[in-house]
Amino acid sequence: MPVLRLDPVRRRWVITGKRPAMPDALDSGELCPFCPGNEGFTPASICEHRDANGNWEVRVFHDRAPLFRVEGGLNREGEGIYDRMNALGAHEIVVETTQHGKTLAELAPGRIARVFEICRDRIIDLKQDPRFRYVSVFKDQGRLRPAAEEHGHSHVLATPVIPTLVERELRWSLLHYQRKERCIYCDIIHQESQSGKRIVDENADFICICPYASRFPYEIWVLPVQHNSSFERDMNTDARLLSLAKFLKLALLRVEKISDKLRMVLHTEPNLGAYGPGEDRWKTVRDDFHWHFEIYPEIDADTGHFDAESFYYNPIPAEDAALALRAIEVAEENNQPEI
Ligand SMILES: [Zn+2]
Ligand SMILES: [Zn+2]
Ligand SMILES: [Zn+2]
Repeated sequence: MPVLRLDPVRRRWVITGKRPAMPDALDSGELCPFCPGNEGFTPASICEHRDANGNWEVRVFHDRAPLFRVEGGLNREGEGIYDRMNALGAHEIVVETTQHGKTLAELAPGRIARVFEICRDRIIDLKQDPRFRYVSVFKDQGRLRPAAEEHGHSHVLATPVIPTLVERELRWSLLHYQRKERCIYCDIIHQESQSGKRIVDENADFICICPYASRFPYEIWVLPVQHNSSFERDMNTDARLLSLAKFLKLALLRVEKISDKLRMVLHTEPNLGAYGPGEDRWKTVRDDFHWHFEIYPEIDADTGHFDAESFYYNPIPAEDAALALRAIEVAEENNQPEI
């Protein structure tokens, strides 16, 4: 059973220990457990969206071999100078569509909106548990693994610690706010909107940019134009969900023209109702942090990063990447029914 160990020098939590084995029947990778009719190969649904005929369109269930488990306590322990705790958490799979092989971007906007809606609801539900300090939502698309990897799905991961990269963003956003009483992301949006050099797309609700210091070629961020620290609070109406779905669809279609392999991560505020010092530490988070998606296509390029992750080498500057992504024609493909 994996546990979390803290690297005391770098303040980084590492999951260590053997993870539970995958059920044998799925190891061959031939059967897709996410396809309709194969629900028996997955755990029961935690929640589903159903169509008018009562068939599921989007469903969520617990991962079959989770790194994080809901049962038991945290059991925080010291081991000399070291800290460890149980890898307590929840790892859920969101199957985004019944159609095997369709990417999220290929779905109609109304269907993409249903996926975001169910992710929103899972975040809200998991944040009711004060043991969880953060809920992550991410997807790895097009990576070569068993058949299920070709079936569009996302992961929802609730953890007793805030992921290192998000915590870094939270800390530096807070510092910027303490110095200037402004949200650093709003400042970035303002500057990028004025210069236009790194903008891929924008409308009244959302903006898509290649970040100034992009770590990966064609990395993009999608942010709401109006300040909001929380995806789950911002996405509180069908209209807002649909607006995001339409915008993100175009962004993803562009990225898919660059590479069919991509990673998409949501960064939203931490669980303010969690036990521990979070409430104090993040008391201005609603003003200083700004939720966003980060999307990284995977391409064959000379992008080796040095010293494991301290330095990144990206041969394509953000301005060039934005220019290329802007030039990709996607409007026509988006011209389809909303539902
Ligand atoms: Zn499938
Ligand atoms: Zn902001
Ligand atoms: Zn981020």
